[in-house]
Amino acid sequence: MAVKFYAIASGSSGNSTFVGTEHTKILIDAGISGKCITQALSSLEIAGNNIDALFITHEHTDHIKGAGIISRKFDIPIYATCGTWKAMENQIGKIAEKNKRFVYAQERCIINDICINPFAIPHDATEPVGYSIETENHKITIATDLGHITNDIKQKLFDSDLLLLEANHDEEMVKNGCYPYYLKERILGKKGHISNDTAGNLLCDIMSEKLKYVVLGHLSEQNNYPRLAYQTVKNILEKNNIKIGKYFQLDTALKYNSSQVIEL
Ligand SMILES: [Zn+2]
Ligand SMILES: [Zn+2]
Repeated sequence: MAVKFYAIASGSSGNSTFVGTEHTKILIDAGISGKCITQALSSLEIAGNNIDALFITHEHTDHIKGAGIISRKFDIPIYATCGTWKAMENQIGKIAEKNKRFVYAQERCIINDICINPFAIPHDATEPVGYSIETENHKITIATDLGHITNDIKQKLFDSDLLLLEANHDEEMVKNGCYPYYLKERILGKKGHISNDTAGNLLCDIMSEKLKYVVLGHLSEQNNYPRLAYQTVKNILEKNNIKIGKYFQLDTALKYNSSQVIEL
């Protein structure tokens, strides 16, 4: 059964990703305006009220900005961890009780023909998670806002057909940039974001024959640019004899309409 992936928006100014089969359509994060999400969905010929569920990774604004709006407008249930609910509840406006749903790291959640596996990620939010989304024969993993890489994360990412992986910054650009010291510390710290180099090395560690697409995402606007992220990761892969081509594709998500629609 075919599954579609589309990164509607990616980056420090907003994140939202669509994953859907013929029977089930979900969003992961809604960090841009409800209007932009609705427009992006209509470009896929999907109406807002066809969305079965919205999964939230964590409460930072770039992941929840439009969450309340689209839940109310299209009556969409929102799934998040207990910690994320507590931290985001007063930021997203009133949500109908029936649309408040909970996920737990390591406990799978089934929506029709899609199985969603939340996994804990180290990031400076209350109870942040990444999501692996499994359909009958494919696995798509959303892994951004990773402070650092743990063995558990490697395990969760392994065996994916498609990976939306954070390549947030170039370390030198952060160090030499104009951010105040505390912000540099935060970005580079163990609960901040991962660099282009870290993303490249991680890919070498988890490479499998199954992995066909990697979309680099959550790029910083100040400390990265798409060509640099792409080239850095490509160089690391090639040093490790991993070729980009017909069987393995590497792409970089842009700010808006950030990826192509990928169909597995
Ligand atoms: Zn965050
Ligand atoms: Zn973020």
